[in-house]
Amino acid sequence: MTISFEWTDDHKLIRESVRDWARNEAAPKIPEMDIQQQSDRKLLEQMGELGFLGVSIPEEYGGGGFDYISTAIVSEELEYVDSSLRVAISVHNGLNSMGIYQWGTEEQKQKYLKPQAEGKKLATYGLTEPNAGSDVAGIETRAVEDGDFYILNGGKMWISLANVADHFVTFAKTNPDIGHRGLTAFLVEREFEGVSTGSIKNKLGVRAGNTGFINYDNVAVPKENMLGELGEGFKIAMSCLDNGRFTVAAGAVGLAKASRDAAVKYAGERKAFGKEIGQHQLVQRLIAHMEQGIDAAELLVLRAGWMKNEGIRNTKETAMAKWFATNVASQCADDAIQVHGGNGFSAEFPVERFWRNARGARIYEGTDQIQELMQGQYAMGYRVDKPLRMPLPPYTPKD
Ligand SMILES: Cc1cc2nc3c(=O)[nH]c(=O)nc-3n(C[C@H](O)[C@H](O)[C@H](O)COP(=O)(O)OP(=O)(O)OC[C@H]3O[C@@H](n4cnc5c(N)ncnc54)[C@H](O)[C@@H]3O)c2cc1C
Repeated sequence: MTISFEWTDDHKLIRESVRDWARNEAAPKIPEMDIQQQSDRKLLEQMGELGFLGVSIPEEYGGGGFDYISTAIVSEELEYVDSSLRVAISVHNGLNSMGIYQWGTEEQKQKYLKPQAEGKKLATYGLTEPNAGSDVAGIETRAVEDGDFYILNGGKMWISLANVADHFVTFAKTNPDIGHRGLTAFLVEREFEGVSTGSIKNKLGVRAGNTGFINYDNVAVPKENMLGELGEGFKIAMSCLDNGRFTVAAGAVGLAKASRDAAVKYAGERKAFGKEIGQHQLVQRLIAHMEQGIDAAELLVLRAGWMKNEGIRNTKETAMAKWFATNVASQCADDAIQVHGGNGFSAEFPVERFWRNARGARIYEGTDQIQELMQGQYAMGYRVDKPLRMPLPPYTPKD
């Protein structure tokens, strides 16, 4: 259980390979994709070919077999370039694949997790609905038992990769009379009869990525596609968030660093009152506060990653990392615009995109308010995490 701040050789190699692809292959395409509000499935396929989509899934299930901190590194490096790339990791790796790795049967792992980890299939997570987001127990999608199937009816809203993904882990009410204990999780394929999807346009941010809706119209889902047990959906939804939020937090560190680097560069070039604006102490203060936030956010992410590697329940610590890091990213992007002055208000510079993208992460995977409530409840002792029936397996080093 030693704690080390040294990156392993694997960490260094992963960072190098993601950085190289993200900054050289993806970055040139992003500004135009953002302006056109157009996602590019090819970029996601390349991420799959390079192993990013299964980095911490064991090799026996098609993944890279690296530790959970490696997923944080992938998330950080991708979001340094654009949030849309990291969002794909959050839903595909964090919310879906790690959920199947944790809760799935061996058959489900072979059938769904393996092609996802190999990057051959794209996956996402459908929880939010038009009438329920934070209030998960309020979802209205119904699943009714019918022979060897459950028949799903309902709709999901604000789902990342909705119009692109092949596989969805989704949540429905199997018993509407017993609140959150009446939710069940299912693995749904795009190809199932009655599944339809669409895209949401004119979003504030994540414009280079797809966000949309999913409709289920009498979709017959085989019983063997139930993830976990009947009535376990709420627990599964929450434990998937432990993994998704980890990637959001790590990505936010990347966005904060990108904002800081853009601000430092600009402050070293732009002159006002006869000197570089970086020489003015009030500009330095903006940058110093970015440094402070980035350092603290990164440490919170690493603590959560270390706990995952060790197999220690980390709902509280991951939520803290997500809450803190996404607010740091938001503030860094805001301050980076300030350092850029009028130019920060223009799409000629990346910081306005960083600012729009940063805003979303304070809403999805638990809003600021939900994070704040959680931490208050933990501190007061109103919220205590019990061991899960199926905990996320700790990291096992490869031979
Ligand atoms: C870009 C983007 C991508 C997304 N991707 C996905 C995805 O892939 N899958 C998915 O399932 N969802 C996704 N979402 C949805 C997201 O998770 C929800 O929007 C979020 O959980 C909030 O739910 P809501 O929008 O229904 O807001 P509401 O729950 O209606 O909240 C509205 C406001 O009320 C506040 N509030 C609610 N309850 C309380 C309370 N008890 N105490 C204090 N304040 C409260 C909230 O904090 C918020 O400020 C995405 C959203 C966005 C913007």
